[in-house]
Amino acid sequence: MPEPSPSSDPKSHPDSEFAQGMTGACNCGSITVTIKDPNLFTTRRGHICHCLNCRKTSGSYAASNLAIEKEKVTIEDRNGTLKEYNDSGTMSGTPIGRWFCSTCGNPIKSESSVTGPMVILKTGIFPRIPAPESESFGAHRHAWEPFIPGVTVYKIARGKEKLEDAPEV
Ligand SMILES: [Zn+2]
Ligand SMILES: [Zn+2]
Repeated sequence: MPEPSPSSDPKSHPDSEFAQGMTGACNCGSITVTIKDPNLFTTRRGHICHCLNCRKTSGSYAASNLAIEKEKVTIEDRNGTLKEYNDSGTMSGTPIGRWFCSTCGNPIKSESSVTGPMVILKTGIFPRIPAPESESFGAHRHAWEPFIPGVTVYKIARGKEKLEDAPEV
Protein backbone atom coordinates (compact mmCIF):
# COMPACT_ATOMS: atom_id res chain seq x y z
CA MET A 1 0.00 0.00 0.00
CA PRO A 2 1.60 3.33 -1.00
CA GLU A 3 2.23 5.69 1.90
CA PRO A 4 0.58 9.12 1.87
CA SER A 5 2.98 11.96 1.13
CA PRO A 6 3.27 14.89 3.52
CA SER A 7 3.74 17.47 0.70
CA SER A 8 0.75 19.69 0.01
CA ASP A 9 2.06 20.82 -3.39
CA PRO A 10 0.30 18.71 -6.07
CA LYS A 11 3.03 19.67 -8.56
CA SER A 12 5.55 17.74 -6.43
CA HIS A 13 3.67 14.49 -7.17
CA PRO A 14 4.46 13.12 -10.65
CA ASP A 15 2.13 10.52 -12.21
CA SER A 16 4.77 7.83 -11.59
CA GLU A 17 4.20 8.24 -7.87
CA PHE A 18 0.67 6.89 -8.35
CA ALA A 19 1.51 3.86 -10.50
CA GLN A 20 0.55 1.53 -7.65
CA GLY A 21 -2.36 3.70 -6.55
CA MET A 22 -2.84 7.03 -4.85
CA THR A 23 -3.14 7.13 -1.07
CA GLY A 24 -4.36 9.93 1.13
CA ALA A 25 -4.63 10.10 4.91
CA CYS A 26 -6.87 12.04 7.27
CA ASN A 27 -5.25 14.76 9.37
CA CYS A 28 -4.62 12.47 12.37
CA GLY A 29 -3.43 9.58 10.17
CA SER A 30 -5.91 7.00 11.46
CA ILE A 31 -7.70 6.57 8.12
CA THR A 32 -6.03 6.06 4.75
CA VAL A 33 -7.85 5.84 1.44
CA THR A 34 -6.18 4.27 -1.60
CA ILE A 35 -7.53 4.52 -5.15
CA LYS A 36 -6.27 2.09 -7.78
CA ASP A 37 -7.26 3.41 -11.19
CA PRO A 38 -4.75 3.96 -14.01
CA ASN A 39 -7.00 6.63 -15.53
CA LEU A 40 -7.28 8.80 -12.46
CA PHE A 41 -5.59 11.71 -14.21
CA THR A 42 -6.15 10.94 -17.90
CA THR A 43 -9.70 12.34 -18.03
CA ARG A 44 -11.65 14.91 -16.05
CA ARG A 45 -13.70 13.08 -13.48
CA GLY A 46 -13.97 15.04 -10.25
CA HIS A 47 -17.22 16.62 -9.21
CA ILE A 48 -17.77 19.86 -7.32
CA CYS A 49 -20.98 20.29 -5.34
CA HIS A 50 -22.34 23.59 -4.05
CA CYS A 51 -25.29 22.23 -2.06
CA LEU A 52 -25.55 23.47 1.52
CA ASN A 53 -24.99 20.04 3.09
CA CYS A 54 -21.81 19.47 1.05
CA ARG A 55 -20.61 22.94 2.00
CA LYS A 56 -21.11 22.16 5.68
CA THR A 57 -19.43 18.77 5.40
CA SER A 58 -16.43 20.18 3.57
CA GLY A 59 -16.15 23.34 5.66
CA SER A 60 -15.85 25.27 2.42
CA TYR A 61 -17.85 27.10 -0.28
CA ALA A 62 -18.05 23.88 -2.28
CA ALA A 63 -17.20 20.22 -1.85
CA SER A 64 -14.65 18.46 -4.04
CA ASN A 65 -15.90 14.92 -4.69
CA LEU A 66 -14.93 11.92 -6.78
CA ALA A 67 -17.51 9.26 -7.65
CA ILE A 68 -15.62 6.02 -8.28
CA GLU A 69 -16.26 2.27 -8.28
CA LYS A 70 -16.02 0.84 -4.75
CA GLU A 71 -13.84 -2.02 -6.01
CA LYS A 72 -11.09 0.49 -6.88
CA VAL A 73 -10.99 1.90 -3.36
CA THR A 74 -9.38 0.53 -0.19
CA ILE A 75 -10.04 2.24 3.12
CA GLU A 76 -7.89 1.39 6.12
CA ASP A 77 -9.14 2.46 9.52
CA ARG A 78 -6.19 1.78 11.86
CA ASN A 79 -7.67 3.16 15.06
CA GLY A 80 -11.33 2.45 14.31
CA THR A 81 -12.19 6.14 14.00
CA LEU A 82 -14.33 6.00 10.81
CA LYS A 83 -17.86 7.09 11.75
CA GLU A 84 -21.06 7.64 9.79
CA TYR A 85 -23.46 10.55 10.02
CA ASN A 86 -26.75 9.58 8.41
CA ASP A 87 -27.79 12.82 6.71
CA SER A 88 -31.56 12.66 6.14
CA GLY A 89 -31.95 16.39 5.40
CA THR A 90 -30.26 16.52 2.00
CA MET A 91 -31.44 18.99 -0.67
CA SER A 92 -32.08 16.11 -3.08
CA GLY A 93 -34.29 14.38 -0.47
CA THR A 94 -32.25 11.15 -0.61
CA PRO A 95 -30.64 10.30 2.75
CA ILE A 96 -26.89 9.97 2.46
CA GLY A 97 -24.30 8.42 4.76
CA ARG A 98 -21.48 10.89 5.36
CA TRP A 99 -18.38 9.16 6.72
CA PHE A 100 -15.68 11.03 8.57
CA CYS A 101 -12.81 10.55 11.01
CA SER A 102 -14.21 10.89 14.51
CA THR A 103 -10.81 11.92 15.87
CA CYS A 104 -9.83 14.72 13.48
CA GLY A 105 -13.14 15.41 11.71
CA ASN A 106 -11.78 14.85 8.21
CA PRO A 107 -14.57 14.00 5.72
CA ILE A 108 -13.81 10.68 3.98
CA LYS A 109 -16.71 9.49 1.79
CA SER A 110 -20.44 9.52 1.11
CA GLU A 111 -22.71 6.64 0.18
CA SER A 112 -26.45 6.42 -0.37
CA SER A 113 -29.13 4.13 -1.79
CA VAL A 114 -28.63 5.76 -5.21
CA THR A 115 -24.82 5.56 -5.38
CA GLY A 116 -24.99 1.76 -6.00
CA PRO A 117 -21.56 0.33 -6.90
CA MET A 118 -19.98 3.79 -6.57
CA VAL A 119 -18.59 5.56 -3.55
CA ILE A 120 -18.23 9.33 -3.39
CA LEU A 121 -14.78 10.14 -2.03
CA LYS A 122 -13.99 13.52 -0.48
CA THR A 123 -10.85 14.44 -2.37
CA GLY A 124 -9.21 16.89 0.04
CA ILE A 125 -7.14 14.13 1.65
CA PHE A 126 -5.29 13.18 -1.55
CA PRO A 127 -1.86 14.52 -2.62
CA ARG A 128 -3.28 15.43 -6.04
CA ILE A 129 -6.94 16.00 -6.87
CA PRO A 130 -8.34 14.76 -10.20
CA ALA A 131 -9.59 17.63 -12.40
CA PRO A 132 -13.31 18.32 -12.05
CA GLU A 133 -15.61 17.29 -14.89
CA SER A 134 -18.82 18.84 -13.55
CA GLU A 135 -20.44 20.93 -10.86
CA SER A 136 -23.84 20.34 -9.27
CA PHE A 137 -26.06 22.89 -7.50
CA GLY A 138 -24.46 25.51 -9.76
CA ALA A 139 -27.49 27.74 -9.12
CA HIS A 140 -26.28 27.98 -5.52
CA ARG A 141 -22.77 29.20 -6.37
CA HIS A 142 -21.59 32.41 -4.75
CA ALA A 143 -21.44 35.43 -7.06
CA TRP A 144 -17.68 35.77 -6.53
CA GLU A 145 -16.85 32.21 -7.63
CA PRO A 146 -15.08 32.04 -10.99
CA PHE A 147 -16.07 29.39 -13.53
CA ILE A 148 -13.45 26.70 -14.11
CA PRO A 149 -12.66 26.24 -17.82
CA GLY A 150 -13.83 22.90 -19.23
CA VAL A 151 -16.24 22.12 -16.41
CA THR A 152 -19.94 21.51 -17.10
CA VAL A 153 -22.08 23.34 -14.57
CA TYR A 154 -25.52 21.91 -13.80
CA LYS A 155 -28.25 24.05 -12.28
CA ILE A 156 -29.06 21.47 -9.61
CA ALA A 157 -28.52 17.73 -10.29
CA ARG A 158 -25.65 16.35 -12.36
CA GLY A 159 -26.71 15.25 -15.84
CA LYS A 160 -29.91 17.35 -15.75
CA GLU A 161 -30.48 20.99 -16.70
CA LYS A 162 -27.33 23.09 -17.20
CA LEU A 163 -26.81 26.49 -15.62
CA GLU A 164 -27.60 29.01 -18.36
CA ASP A 165 -25.01 31.66 -17.40
CA ALA A 166 -22.13 29.16 -17.27
CA PRO A 167 -19.68 29.19 -20.20
CA GLU A 168 -20.25 26.56 -22.92
CA VAL A 169 -18.07 23.46 -22.52
ZN1 LIG B 1 -8.33 11.39 11.49
ZN1 LIG C 1 -23.86 18.26 -2.45
